[in-house]
Formats: sequence, C-alpha cells, structure tokens
Amino acid sequence: MAELTQKKITDAEWEVMRVVWTNGQATSREIISVLQEKMDWKQATVKTLIGRLVDKGLLATEPIGNKFIYSANVSEQESVGGATEDLLAHVCTKKVGSTIAELIERATLSHADVALLEQVIAAKKLTAVAEVKCMCTPGQCNCKQNGCVHKEESPDGK
Ligand SMILES: [Zn+2]
Repeated sequence: MAELTQKKITDAEWEVMRVVWTNGQATSREIISVLQEKMDWKQATVKTLIGRLVDKGLLATEPIGNKFIYSANVSEQESVGGATEDLLAHVCTKKVGSTIAELIERATLSHADVALLEQVIAAKKLTAVAEVKCMCTPGQCNCKQNGCVHKEESPDGK
C-alpha cells in the first residue's frame, strides 16, 4: 500500500480516480459518462487513462459478465497525503511553513476548517523547533546566502 501511494497520479488520472473513489467501484461506462460531461473527453481517452491506472496497480479490475468493474487499490486519503508530500518535497524545508501559509490563504474555508487548523497549529506549537534546517543541494536554493549552513559544509568553515 505504501508503495502504491508513491506512484504518481497525473492530473487526468485524478479525474478517473475520483469517480472510482466516490462510487466505491465503477464500470468504464460509468467513469466515461461522468468524465464526458465534466471534461468533454472521448471514450478512448478515458479508457486509456483507466488502462494506465490498472498498469500502475492503482485500479483493480474484475470481470463481471461481459464487462469489467474497477475498484481503487489506494484510498483517496492516502493519495491526497502522498500528493501533499510531493508538493512539500519541491520546496526548501525552510520554505515549507510559508508554502503552507500560502495554501491556507488561497483556500476557501469553513469555520469548522479554521477550528481544525487552529487545533493543528496549537499542537505544532508544542513541537516547533527554533530553526528549520535547510536540506537542499547547494545550487537549488538561496539559503546559503541567507546565512544557512548546508549539510555538506562544516559550521566552522564559513
Ligand atoms: Zn534550502
């Protein structure tokens, strides 16, 4: 399961996975009918996407009568968690906090969402560190210029 969540799901494949997650299981006809309406995709396009997801092991397929029924091998929650980790892996560890802040700023949130975030923040306050260490390869971020010491360098070497 952990290995499957590391398989990248493309934007187009997310559309298919969402239909399967929502319905628990679905035939290709059901998936096609949802996505033809939303994305204006051709039947062949959706079938190609389904085929790729089966090849990746993200969708299971079972023949029922003369058709196939598809179900998800990964949960929506795990996949969203994996995508969030991917996003945060794209930025310097020192910028993760401001990236999360930007996500919150951009999001439309309910009072319940805000209350949940407040809970998470309160818990984070208890484990916050004085300074997040940059783990970047030199040349991939500007931390060094900002006085951050990279892993490879000795702190006395500056
Ligand atoms: Zn960095």
